Amino acid sequence: MKTLRTVDELRAALNGPRRAGHSIGLVPTMGALHEGHLSLIRRARASCDQVVVTLFVNPAQFGDPDDLAAYPRDEAQDGVLADAAGADILFTPSAGEVYPLGFATTVTVDEISAPLEGAQRGPAHFAGVATVVTKLLNMAQPDVAFFGQKDAQQVAVIRRVVRDLDIPVRIEVGETIRDSDGVALSSRNVRLRAADRRRAVALRRGLDAVRACHAAGERDPTILAAIGRAAMAELGVEPEYLELVAPESFAPVNSVRDEPVLVAVAARVGDVRLIDNDILD
Ligand code: AMP
Repeated sequence: MKTLRTVDELRAALNGPRRAGHSIGLVPTMGALHEGHLSLIRRARASCDQVVVTLFVNPAQFGDPDDLAAYPRDEAQDGVLADAAGADILFTPSAGEVYPLGFATTVTVDEISAPLEGAQRGPAHFAGVATVVTKLLNMAQPDVAFFGQKDAQQVAVIRRVVRDLDIPVRIEVGETIRDSDGVALSSRNVRLRAADRRRAVALRRGLDAVRACHAAGERDPTILAAIGRAAMAELGVEPEYLELVAPESFAPVNSVRDEPVLVAVAARVGDVRLIDNDILD
């Protein structure tokens, strides 16, 4: 595996494979790799000839400077893990390489960027995500890019960018990888204190309660959301949001009937903000 730091180096490394007709898979990450990331890298390895993993903690998508400063970073360990999972190239540009002096362009996606994560983290969050993903897709020009269902709203935003800007890439979404207690893996989990790590299961419990109530026949999203909140409250966790929305538009739903519905949840557990989701269909 090669580690590359500039766009020129990345383009030069991909020129040969592209001309030879080899397929290129891109797995964008912010590092601190865990099984969730590695499952995407393995999936890329299984279907693409060249696998590029990007490692860039994107300052533009952090509203909170403390969150950015506290974000875990371990490039050496990430290199070992990405290599073992099958990456051919680890692309780790500097902030100056991605946002050179005078950088002035932002990609914003209306409507789906506004609710839930957009409302909690502010409008800059998904603008930061959409801008950096557009840039990474232009830098590597992959045939396929891989993202995790754990960040469901991010997936919806990226699908919209690709569609609206005619970016020639296929988006593949990998299932959420979880710890044995059901907590979704996240780079932020390492920052949870032991007691908070135990309480972090509350997000999964909330989603499970909604699923069980739905399976028992309840169709009213307000009641389903209240059941989910109550299950979380038993562990002393109050969600920032727990909402039932349409999976592509992120618009609230009035009832859970014929179409699949996404249940999205976010909560602060101790000092750490966690998200998770489930699909009812
Ligand atoms: P991040 O480094 O948090 O920006 O995540 C990089 C990619 O890994 C994103 O597409 C995430 O959705 C995905 N990802 C993060 N956590 C998980 C998980 N537990 N299971 C599957 N994919 C994940």
